[in-house]
Amino acid sequence: MKKVLVLGAHLDDSVIAMGGTIAKLVKSGVQVDVFCFGNGDEAYTHPGDSANAVKRFTRDATKAHEVLGVNSFECYGVPDFGVDATREFYQQCIRVIRQHQPDVIFAHWWNEYFQHHGMATISRDAWNQAAWACSADFGVTPHRARKYFHFEVNDPLPEPTHIFDITETFEDKMRAWMCFEDAHDHLGELDNALEARARYHGSRVGVKYGEPFRQSFYLLDTIHTAEELFR
Ligand SMILES: [Zn+2]
Repeated sequence: MKKVLVLGAHLDDSVIAMGGTIAKLVKSGVQVDVFCFGNGDEAYTHPGDSANAVKRFTRDATKAHEVLGVNSFECYGVPDFGVDATREFYQQCIRVIRQHQPDVIFAHWWNEYFQHHGMATISRDAWNQAAWACSADFGVTPHRARKYFHFEVNDPLPEPTHIFDITETFEDKMRAWMCFEDAHDHLGELDNALEARARYHGSRVGVKYGEPFRQSFYLLDTIHTAEELFR
């Protein structure tokens, strides 16, 4: 079975960025695991309601990922604005890559606010670091995922290399997104934006709905044979 790991800063990033792709991969028999860091403590609109927001957002995110059919959904559980490119979070990215041994990793891109920016750095570097035979406390089996893709959450992804056709699973994405009951208070504009974005990206490749990704070649590919050049 092929395995995909999604690394997100917050509880809802994976749904916003690639809910349709996750649902389509799962329906195709791919195992998808999602790991994130922020616990939703900023997802509140009434003063003093932060603690309840953590409970609600965690509950809703769990439900949303069940809708998408992921194999596992784990949150490291730190404050939303505490997510950054630090030693601790870098270690956790290495750990989760070695734990899940994914064929493909999806994670953030840099041109977003600092938590997503930091995740773009540590996720991409952990892709490399997880393959080194060191830091054995984070898993004794080094692992190099074959491919790595960046996704967009808040801001347009520059020069995507791939648009994933999510025409069949766009409704699954929206059903997952609607699980975040409170998100429509603090992120209300996203309800329409998610459809507009998916329509736009789909139109770039002649399908109804799409999600954009940018493949990383930070770790080099090797071409051994002429056939591999044309694969
Ligand atoms: Zn986020």
